[in-house]
Amino acid sequence: MIIKKSSFNPNERFFMNVHYFSPGPASLPEAVRKQIKEELLDTFGIGVSVMEISHRSKQYEQLNEETHALARKVFQVPNTHSVLFSCCGAQQHFSIIPQHLSKPGEEIAYTDTGIWAHLACEEVFAMPRKINLVYDGRNCDYVSLGNPSKWDIPKNSKYVHLTVNNTVYGTEYAKIPTFGDIPIVLDMTSSLAGRTDIPWESTALVYASAQKNFGIAGVSVVIIRNDLLEKSREITKANYLGKALSYHAIFDTKSALNTPPVFPIFAMNRMLKWIDHSGGTPTMEKWSLEKAKLIYSEIDAGLYIGRTDKDCRSRHNFVFKLPKEEQDNHFIAEAAKHNLLEIKGYRSVGGIRASMYNGVSVESASVFAEFMRDYRKKFG
Ligand SMILES: *Cc1c(COP(=O)(O)O)cnc(C)c1O
Repeated sequence: MIIKKSSFNPNERFFMNVHYFSPGPASLPEAVRKQIKEELLDTFGIGVSVMEISHRSKQYEQLNEETHALARKVFQVPNTHSVLFSCCGAQQHFSIIPQHLSKPGEEIAYTDTGIWAHLACEEVFAMPRKINLVYDGRNCDYVSLGNPSKWDIPKNSKYVHLTVNNTVYGTEYAKIPTFGDIPIVLDMTSSLAGRTDIPWESTALVYASAQKNFGIAGVSVVIIRNDLLEKSREITKANYLGKALSYHAIFDTKSALNTPPVFPIFAMNRMLKWIDHSGGTPTMEKWSLEKAKLIYSEIDAGLYIGRTDKDCRSRHNFVFKLPKEEQDNHFIAEAAKHNLLEIKGYRSVGGIRASMYNGVSVESASVFAEFMRDYRKKFG
């Protein structure tokens, strides 16, 4: 599969005058926004927009095939695993995944490390399974991810479910843990295309919605080990799972069982191309670490109070507060005057949360860090 070159200039990505730190949907690079605008009305040079193109046309088939190839390349997927696109969000996958990897009565292991992880647990607690909750972050108000090497994973567990980055509380595994013969299932909705260290040999399945690191809402990616995809044909029958929700049926139709979300897939294609042109996931990871360093050095320099243990700080969501609640609001208002937007903490957590996914440049992070420094001097 040849991936077509596109015309944008990756150096254009810093022309934003607004710095938007939304937790998701999240900023797209300026170059991608511009390109989508330019291509919107006549996307394929046949006078038809991507919003109206038939998903059976050769133009869409080419786009679809190219996007699958790009996804494999950018996510660094080995031949042992298959890739498919789904129109479900991460939360639908919470309930669909267990029905592909386990039958009624079988054991599975879960970790509760934040809001999304907790919701994933709730879905399986309602199923006829033996659930092993191997880490419960509620005990420490989610400031830590514990010590995975000490977790007791019952050996009959079909898999261990992990949320790699916890967007609300700002925790992330510094290293993705593995558990010998028991494979892991990774919710990477806020970390896929941001980390190069997925331990594929130990990974049963990875899933991620596109709207944080590699596209817009409306499409998600599922990456599943080939043999488990085959086995799931039998397992989904035992679970009476509908065909249109079954990964094997979606895979068999090249991710076009439903009329696919054509526009989100197009936006994901352009975003994946931008990532690829910029140096791929290794570059995204390097930039994430640079952004994280800029912000955490300010948090550690005084006035600000980081929410989490230092050994599990998120590279994507920076959560902190000021000594008094009124100061949080003042900080948010002052930031807005500098076009630093969407940094209010999650409603149940409070404080500040600045999210910096792939679409947020290192320059934006450094503008924010500078603001934090000035604010400390002026009001600290
Ligand atoms: C944002 C997020 C979700 C929710 O994704 P939806 O596609 O909106 O369901 C789930 N898990 C994680 C880790 C997230 O960051």
